Amino acid sequence: MSARDYVEKDYYASLGVPKTATPAEIKKAYRKLARQHHPDANKGDAKSEEKFKEISEAYDVLSDETKRKEYDEARALFGAGGFRVPRGGGGPGGGVPFDLGDLFGGAGGGGGIGDIFTTIFSGGRRTAQAGRRGADAETEVTLSFDDAAHGVTVPLQLATTGPCPTCHGSGAKPGTSTRVCPRCEGTGSSSRNAGGFAFAEPCRECRGRGLLVDDPCPTCSGVGQTVSTRTIRTRIPAGVRDGQRIRIPGKGQPGLNGGPSGDLIVHVHVQPHGVFGRKGDNLTLTLPVTFPEAALGATVKVPTLDGPPVSVKIPAGTTSGRTLRVRGKGVARRDGTRGDLLVTVEVAVPSELTDEAKAALASYAETQTDDPRAHLTRMAGT
Ligand SMILES: [Zn+2]
Ligand SMILES: [Zn+2]
Repeated sequence: MSARDYVEKDYYASLGVPKTATPAEIKKAYRKLARQHHPDANKGDAKSEEKFKEISEAYDVLSDETKRKEYDEARALFGAGGFRVPRGGGGPGGGVPFDLGDLFGGAGGGGGIGDIFTTIFSGGRRTAQAGRRGADAETEVTLSFDDAAHGVTVPLQLATTGPCPTCHGSGAKPGTSTRVCPRCEGTGSSSRNAGGFAFAEPCRECRGRGLLVDDPCPTCSGVGQTVSTRTIRTRIPAGVRDGQRIRIPGKGQPGLNGGPSGDLIVHVHVQPHGVFGRKGDNLTLTLPVTFPEAALGATVKVPTLDGPPVSVKIPAGTTSGRTLRVRGKGVARRDGTRGDLLVTVEVAVPSELTDEAKAALASYAETQTDDPRAHLTRMAGT
């Protein structure tokens, strides 16, 4: 395991668990994947072998409390999703050529995670030029039940932090210039030693910018960035569920110094429907039937979300609460198939009866000899 692995590999994604996963969840995810990709079960399958290695490596780190902590810290520092270094030292202000080998202590790395911190933060101002991935942005969208089931293109309003148009990001009043922070020598970071570990923290003098502004820009007050609102249109796929999060790559905050943009996370809310409910890819529906329909059997028309109604056969002797499955009338899945429509039968009891109906029910009652509560009667000891 090299230090570079820590920064470049997403072990959580390898195991398909969130960053907040508990040790038990990590173990469970690992076991499932390990069974699936075990070399014994996939003889000669190079892809499975590769995947098996990947999950084993991920588990090795995430199952060890200390290693996991180091990994999380390294990722937080460089931005999850990879720390990318501009080729040829590009980046605003013309950086010094920057070599990954330097950063990771020679070919292949191999040092502990501490090496990264000490190498980077003792290095001088070149480090401030490294591209850093933009932060993920989050937004919410509320969809109607139908739109969620069918998929829809929606406009999303996003607040984006971008370079100030007046000072073009320098933070300095037009006609003046910035100067390199003397405290951190332009790195933006100062390192602190804690328990043999070098931790980086933003420089207090320049608040992590590496530069100082003497005459602040009137538009952004010297920050160099302003918040603007933009609207993007994005496709929400069919079958999205209430509470689901959708990740749209590259639509988050722009990267710094040529780094890639972050992702946009869309939290989806789905409004309830008057008739249908959702259970994953299945639609649910409560179907009231009369007692004679349930007892004698009947064929009943049931609405569908997308097409004409379907005929559902209620078998004779159907009890209230029984669920009947209508295949293929649920929500569209990504692979083109559909979930099912789950029809739950509910025997409707009329609140008012005509004299004729009362008389008919009374004579029906007289024909009944079975006690439906026999098991309860026994328990009550009567
Ligand atoms: Zn400005
Ligand atoms: Zn500073």
